[in-house]
Amino acid sequence: MAKRDYYEVLGVSRDATQEEIKRAYRRLAKKYHPDISKDGESAEKFKEATEAYEVLSDPEKRAQYDRFGHVGPEQGFDFDLHDFHRAREAWEEFGFGRSAFDEIFDMFFGEGLRTSRARARRISRAQRGEDLEYRLQLTLEDVAFGTKLRVTVPRYVACDRCNGQGAEPGSRIGTCPVCHGTGQVEYRYQTMLGSFVNVRTCERCGGTGEIIEQPCSKCRGRGRVKEESKISITIPAGVDTGSRLRLAGEGNAGTGGGPPGDLYIIVEVKPHETFQRKGDDLYIEVPLKVTQAILGTTLKVPTLEGEAEIEIPPGTQPGTVFRLKGKGIPHLRGSGRGDQFVQVKVTIPASLTREQRRLLEELDRTL
Ligand SMILES: [Zn+2]
Ligand SMILES: [Zn+2]
Repeated sequence: MAKRDYYEVLGVSRDATQEEIKRAYRRLAKKYHPDISKDGESAEKFKEATEAYEVLSDPEKRAQYDRFGHVGPEQGFDFDLHDFHRAREAWEEFGFGRSAFDEIFDMFFGEGLRTSRARARRISRAQRGEDLEYRLQLTLEDVAFGTKLRVTVPRYVACDRCNGQGAEPGSRIGTCPVCHGTGQVEYRYQTMLGSFVNVRTCERCGGTGEIIEQPCSKCRGRGRVKEESKISITIPAGVDTGSRLRLAGEGNAGTGGGPPGDLYIIVEVKPHETFQRKGDDLYIEVPLKVTQAILGTTLKVPTLEGEAEIEIPPGTQPGTVFRLKGKGIPHLRGSGRGDQFVQVKVTIPASLTREQRRLLEELDRTL
């Protein structure tokens, strides 16, 4: 099919100004924009208009076009990144988003040209292993004083047959025959705007440039195998539900000789039947006889380290809170400990003997 005249495509006269050309392209771009008009014919029209604009908006190319008409792709002009940016600037001036331009550009020319410079890089075969998480349930006593324990963690460890390299012992890791070790493959192709070079990651070797000639028979070339590992963990005093402990290098083994990931221990403290924890403080409720509240007493209360005594002064009101300083949980950072708070719950006897009743009535008269 013969190419339409660029001026005709844009609907401008041969002596149109740059401003008129820009305006004409803007109008057509809006009309045939692939985001607005979905049918294939519009995309063709848009492409045609873009090509016409590319030529007519560049004084040099326009002069060449005026003299020689359409130029075939064989002897076509070079479309370099300078042109790309110029077109994109014009596009943005029109009020369209940059990403829309990139999308359209990619639609016609492939992603390669725009991104090849950023992507052209050899990928290392050695990849770091994944980080792992392990949820660990602990008692309040465990976290109050710290503890040491062993846990079983399913994880990947380096294959001992191939030392994590993935190659059968005695076999070679060779250079990829497709990309010759560069990890990239160049594709050249022709378009109406000239020839392009697109650099892509080599599919044969995944961009590493290396090929394992004979994969290890134990790990099938992966360089690591699954294992139930026993790992010793030291729990510092003061951790709480949601604390994350990082064990560097105890995560999954890397591949291709890469370093291992980390293991994160996620702490969950089980509820305690006696104590409630709020931050590093502990809370407890203890019953107190009504006469003890009135007359005062010495009360024995449980703490994490056995019993402690509290002096209850005469006339203690129900719900009074006493503080045992430093009997809480040790601070994880810094020194010192939280406190233990003891709330008294005054109990009223539900039934009385005749003697008790008589004494209380006597007391009542005096109050
Ligand atoms: Zn192996
Ligand atoms: Zn390759």
